[in-house]
Amino acid sequence: MLYPKTFGENPLFPQACNFAVVPKDNNSGFGVITFQAYKPGDLLAIVTGEMVSDIRQHTLQVSKRRHMYDPYFTGYLLHSCEPNVSLNMKKMTLTALKEIKKGEFLFMDYAETEDILYRQFGCCCTSESCRGWITGRKEMPQQMILEQHDHHRTH
Ligand SMILES: [Zn+2]
Repeated sequence: MLYPKTFGENPLFPQACNFAVVPKDNNSGFGVITFQAYKPGDLLAIVTGEMVSDIRQHTLQVSKRRHMYDPYFTGYLLHSCEPNVSLNMKKMTLTALKEIKKGEFLFMDYAETEDILYRQFGCCCTSESCRGWITGRKEMPQQMILEQHDHHRTH
């Protein structure tokens, strides 16, 4: 199991025989790969973590003021604007959106769960629908805020 024993013993929690947190490349840091193949709609795992009230690195938003801190599994899911997995933070499920092959990295869309990101970033997922600059679903791009600031200053 990837989670510590104190989280309980759910057989649907991510298992070390099915998933691993590994370095992606020099730019992206770590990601999660799977050793199993999945079809769209398949349940990959039930997820869990420590409930906290603040946004941190490796937290996922559960509700307006609740965040799940999971530095073992979901906190390492990479972002793509065309994700292959979906996190349902009400049901605490990770499901496949696409066909996933053995050895592939798992990608979620960070805006699916997060109102505000711990850190906004430029995306290089190269998908056709790539949004370029990734923010939470309820926040403005920081670049835009900076540009507006410049605009007001120079005019
Ligand atoms: Zn993208």
